[in-house]
Amino acid sequence: MSKHYDLIAIGGGSGGLSVAERAARYGARCAVVESGRLGGTCVNVGCVPKKVMWYAAEIAHVLEMAPDYGFSVERGPLDWGELVRRREAYISGINTWYHSYLEDSDIDEIPGHARFVDAHTLEVEGKRYTADHIVIATGGRPAVPEVPGAELGITSDGFFALAEQPRRVAVVGAGYIAVEIAGVLNALGSEVSLYLRREHFLRSFDAMLREGLMEQMLEDGVSIFSRTQVAELRRSDEGITLICDQGSETHGLDAVIWAIGRSPNTDDLNLEAAGVQRAEDGTIPVDAFQNTNVEGIYAVGDIIGQAQLTPVAIAAARRLADRLFGGQPERHLSYDLIPTVVFSHPPIGTVGLTEGEARALHGAAVKVYQTRFTPMLHAFTERKVQTAMKLVTVGAKEKVVGCHILGPGADEMLQGFAVAIRMGATKRDLDDTIAIHPTSAEELVTMR
Ligand code: FAD
Ligand code: NDP
Repeated sequence: MSKHYDLIAIGGGSGGLSVAERAARYGARCAVVESGRLGGTCVNVGCVPKKVMWYAAEIAHVLEMAPDYGFSVERGPLDWGELVRRREAYISGINTWYHSYLEDSDIDEIPGHARFVDAHTLEVEGKRYTADHIVIATGGRPAVPEVPGAELGITSDGFFALAEQPRRVAVVGAGYIAVEIAGVLNALGSEVSLYLRREHFLRSFDAMLREGLMEQMLEDGVSIFSRTQVAELRRSDEGITLICDQGSETHGLDAVIWAIGRSPNTDDLNLEAAGVQRAEDGTIPVDAFQNTNVEGIYAVGDIIGQAQLTPVAIAAARRLADRLFGGQPERHLSYDLIPTVVFSHPPIGTVGLTEGEARALHGAAVKVYQTRFTPMLHAFTERKVQTAMKLVTVGAKEKVVGCHILGPGADEMLQGFAVAIRMGATKRDLDDTIAIHPTSAEELVTMR
C-alpha cells in the first residue's frame, strides 16, 4: 500500500524544503524526498561553503593590509585542512538541524531517489508514495565538457572536497563560480589562471562591473586567458597539462576546475511516466505560477533554468505553497528585479537592467550616473581596490531601473537599494535620502 500526502517535494534543497515547510504550516500533510544531503546544493556544495571560503580569502586580504594600519603582523601559512574541517563541521550542524526541523514541522523525510510512476505516484527505494501535488525541486549538477582527459579536472563539488590547497590551478569558465573560485584561491595564495572562451567573464553583467573586476583580478595576480578554449587535459609526472585549442600548453597544474555551468537533474526522474515535458537543455518549463504542463505537478528552483539563486528557489516555493494551501490564488513570484551578488574580491552587487539593456529598451530616455573612487579603507594601503557604482535611470522622472556596484561592501550594500528600486524609486528619492558618512554607500545618494 502506498502512503498518501497532500504534497511531496522531490529534492531537499532550498526549493523543496521551502515548499514543504510553508505548506505544512497551512496544515498540509507533506513529505520531502532527498537522495543526498538535506539542504541541497546551497548548504552542502554551494553558497554556504563558498561563503566560508570567501570569508577566509577576505581575511587573507585584511592580513595583507594590516601592516598598512600599523600592525606588526605577518600573514602566516593557511592550514587548509583545518579550515575545511571547521567549514564541514558547520555544515553538518546545518544538516542535523534540518532533520530535526522536518521532524518538528511534521514533514516526513523520505531518503532515496524519486522516480515518477504516474502523475500522482512516486517510487523511492522500491516503495510507492502518492500525492495530490508533486513539486520537482531537483536542482542541478556541475557540467563537465566533452574534451579528452576532462575527468582529470574537478568541478565546484570537487573544489569543496579538496583536502589540500592546490598550488597551481586553472579555472575554466566565465560565470559566478569561475570568478568566485579563482578569487578565493588567488587570495589564499594559489597560483591561478582563468580560461575564458570569449573576451570577458560575467557577460550578462553591466560592462562597468566586469571590466572593473577583471582589472582588479589582473592587478591581484590572476592570469586571465581570454578567447581560449581548453581542448584537452593530460596527466604527467609533473601534474596535469592543459592544452588549449591554439596549441599552447600549461604544465604542472595541481588542479583544473571546470566551472562552465550546471546541468539540470531531470534524467533519472522518469518524467515520461507522468507526461511532464522537458526543454531541450533538460530544464522543466513552467508558467508564471510554477505549473508544469501536467496538472498537480510543479517545478521550482534551479530545475526551471531561470535565476539560479537560493532566495529565488525559496521565494518561488513559498509562493507556490501560499497559492496551493494558503488561499492566495494569484500568489506567484515575479522574476524581475532580482538582486544578486558575485562574491568576488571585491564583491559585485547588481540589480535591474544593465546600461546596455536599458539603452536597447528605452534609447535616449536613459540617463546614467556613475562614479569610481578609492574607498577610504584603501586610501593608504599598498593593495589598492577601486569602487565603481552606476545608477541606470529612465524617463523624465529618472526612475531607477538598474543599480550596479563593485567594491568592498557591495554585497551588503545592495539589499536596501533593491527594496527602493522595487518600490519604484527615482533618482530624486535617492538624492532626498540623507547620506551616511563616511561610507562608500553614501555615493549612491549623492551622485551627480
Ligand atoms: P538544490 O539545492 O540543488 O537541491 C536539489 C536537491 O534535490 C539536491 O539535494 C539533490 O540531491 C536532490 N535530488 C535530485 N534529484 C533527486 C531525485 N530524483 N530524488 C530525490 N532527490 C533528488 N546561490 C545564491 O543565491 N547565492 C550564492 O552565493 C550561491 N553560491 C553558489 C555557489 C556554488 C558553488 C553553487 C554550485 C551554487 C551557488 N548558488 C548560490 C546557487 C544555489 O545553490 C542554487 O540556486 C540553489 O541551491 C537551488 O536550489 P534548488 O532547491 O533548486 O536545488
Ligand atoms: P554560469 O551559467 O553562471 O556560467 C558559466 C559560464 O561558463 C557560461 O555562461 C559560459 O560563459 C562559460 N562556458 C560555458 N561552457 C563553456 C566551455 N565549454 N568552456 C569555457 N567556458 C564555458 O554557471 P556557473 O557554473 O558559474 O554557476 C551556475 C549558477 O549558479 C549561476 O548561474 C548562478 O545562478 C548560481 N551561482 C550563484 C552564485 C551567487 O549567487 N553568488 C555563486 C555561484 C553560482 P560564456 O558564454 O561567456 O563563455
